[in-house]
Amino acid sequence: MINNKNLTLTMIKPDAVKNGYMGNIINDITNAGFTIIALRLTQLTSQDAKKFYSIHKDKPFFKNLVEFMTSGPIVAAVLKKENAVEEFRKLIGATNPKNAEEGTLRKKYAESMERNAIHGSDSDENARIESLFHFAEKEIYLD
Ligand code: UDP
Repeated sequence: MINNKNLTLTMIKPDAVKNGYMGNIINDITNAGFTIIALRLTQLTSQDAKKFYSIHKDKPFFKNLVEFMTSGPIVAAVLKKENAVEEFRKLIGATNPKNAEEGTLRKKYAESMERNAIHGSDSDENARIESLFHFAEKEIYLD
């Protein structure tokens, strides 16, 4: 059962896939010491995106976010590394790429606050929920 501090869920968002950054981003992720233990190219339906981002359903940006996240293919992946959630949030940088530090994935690849190239879970509990949103347990290679 996936339930530990070593996993996080990422999505390479539609802007980054469209801009041809999929390979570079995967390379950066593995170079930073994360192991990919599940991976899929897929496209979210409106229902999927609304569910995934349901915590933001009352926010002014929700509708645009759902439209953006369903606008093209994404890459979903489960990543393994010690302290994965925190370490990966460091690697991706601030939500707004203008505030993201040099060398972070959002600084390198994001277009804007909304089209910010990449997702990373914000807690261990959400990492588990989001991993099981995208993958069946048997598709997650824990060892
Ligand atoms: N977002 C947006 N406008 C905002 C805040 C967030 O479009 O003012 C989008 C952005 O794509 C972000 C996602 O909604 O990645 C989820 O927001 P959250 O605050 O959870 O940021 P994250 O955890 O992705 O850094």
